Amino acid sequence: YSSLAAALENPITPPVKVEHTQLLINGQFVDSASGKTFPTLDPRTGEVIAQVAEGDVEDVNRAVLAARKAFDQGPWPRMTAYDRSRILYRFADLIEQHNDEIAALETWDNGKPYEQSAKVELPMVARVFRYYAGWADKIHGMTVPGDGSHHVQTLHEPIGVAGQIIPWNFPLLMLSWKLGPALACGNTIVLKTAEQTPLSALLVGKLLHEAGLPEGVVNIVSGFGATAGAAVASHMDIDKVAFTGSTDVGKIILDLASKSNLKAVTLELGGKSPFIVCKDADVDQAVELAHFALFFNQGQCCCAGSRTFVHERVYDEFVEKAKARANNRVVGDPFKSGIEQGPQVDSEQFKKILKYIKHGVDSGATLQAGGDRLGSKGYYIQPTVFSDVKDDMLIAKDEIFGPVQTILKFKDLDEVIARANNSRYGLAAGVFTQNLDTANRLSRALRVGTVWINCYDVLDITIPFGGYKMSGIGREKGIYSLSNYLQVKAVVTSLKNPAW
Ligand code: NAD
Repeated sequence: YSSLAAALENPITPPVKVEHTQLLINGQFVDSASGKTFPTLDPRTGEVIAQVAEGDVEDVNRAVLAARKAFDQGPWPRMTAYDRSRILYRFADLIEQHNDEIAALETWDNGKPYEQSAKVELPMVARVFRYYAGWADKIHGMTVPGDGSHHVQTLHEPIGVAGQIIPWNFPLLMLSWKLGPALACGNTIVLKTAEQTPLSALLVGKLLHEAGLPEGVVNIVSGFGATAGAAVASHMDIDKVAFTGSTDVGKIILDLASKSNLKAVTLELGGKSPFIVCKDADVDQAVELAHFALFFNQGQCCCAGSRTFVHERVYDEFVEKAKARANNRVVGDPFKSGIEQGPQVDSEQFKKILKYIKHGVDSGATLQAGGDRLGSKGYYIQPTVFSDVKDDMLIAKDEIFGPVQTILKFKDLDEVIARANNSRYGLAAGVFTQNLDTANRLSRALRVGTVWINCYDVLDITIPFGGYKMSGIGREKGIYSLSNYLQVKAVVTSLKNPAW
């Protein structure tokens, strides 16, 4: 690793300037009420990128007031759905026009490879807004037979002011999964970004207004969870809260929602997803896919394939090749081309991951690759592989959220189904097999929200996403997201002459 480490000493200057660091409330960039700011850091060095306005209760109150006014009196929920969709299409065009600038900001704040931001995530974000722009004028209710003496119809109405709290691992993609459906349905929004990655949302917030979004419809509050986040979850005038992040905070959100105004809650939480390599697998392909399933985005994915179950018939070969693949992973400055892995997002995550690695070694798992930080600056971690992992080890139970693959051996399908399901989480699973019956059996038996067969992390916007068990409540993406942002009103009209 020494040549990789040396290359990290001189970080590349990001090809972008930070222009927006204030809160975006009622269509204006404003300072926080307290005047306080907090630093957002470059994960490559730990140095300050910019000071950002720190939102707190008072700022959330101001944002909710603006969103409430925009909902109760403004044009957004009242304009034709077609006009709403045209604004969203224009916004998607603007994202494409500013693709490289936004991607650079995303990479600078988060540490993910620039090529991933620019060529994969930003195009996905534009697609999300086009997808929901297309839905805006196709949302409608039903007529219901009733008992014959009434005309009964359902109106699908926006729910009102939506609070949205997002994490740092895919700042803009998470923003798009939240804003897209909420806007298409005619809601207004207070969005709280993650304190680690506030920058890209402020830039796209400006573009949203350039696209013609009326003031107060989307308000963006940067700040911390316990202050600004909690103020969103417990606000009496927010009608719905959507959260993505850890299971522990998900419980807090539900609690705050119930203790305040019983706002509707959807939660996308953590996971410990199994990736199951069956005995008939082509080992080279299985190794590559399992590697991608875990290491993508520095291992910082809620749906990471973080328990790699391998059938005993192919286990030894798999472990050797998984180790070689991890050792070949290209770690480096995320602004350099050809980089597969950048730094972890911040020192907290970095330290937590190193602690889990130590736990793995101490509990008797075999360290096959990596095991330490990379370089002496920033938050880089060597791609790490453990074999001989047992179900009861902490590294097989907890969400590590880092580049640490844990490989477990299994003998037969009944056993692996039971072990895969023996988790408090149920977000996703991967199955690698050429046997159709095996694929069908596993996809029905696994208690998870998504099963990927011979693929992984296929996350296009048409596919619903969400968790069983403690991985969450509700579904996002696709058509399923719309119902999160709609109220159903039954309108019952007496018929003067039911018999016609
Ligand atoms: P987190 O759950 O603490 O943060 C997610 C979001 O919730 C952030 O915007 C944060 O400010 C906000 N938040 C935190 N505390 C809050 C509170 N009391 N009330 C309201 N909002 C609050 O996640 P984290 O600390 O950034 O990461 C911790 C772990 O969470 C990670 O190690 C990982 O296991 C998991 N995680 C999961 C996802 C996911 O996509 N499911 C994303 C990020 C992190």
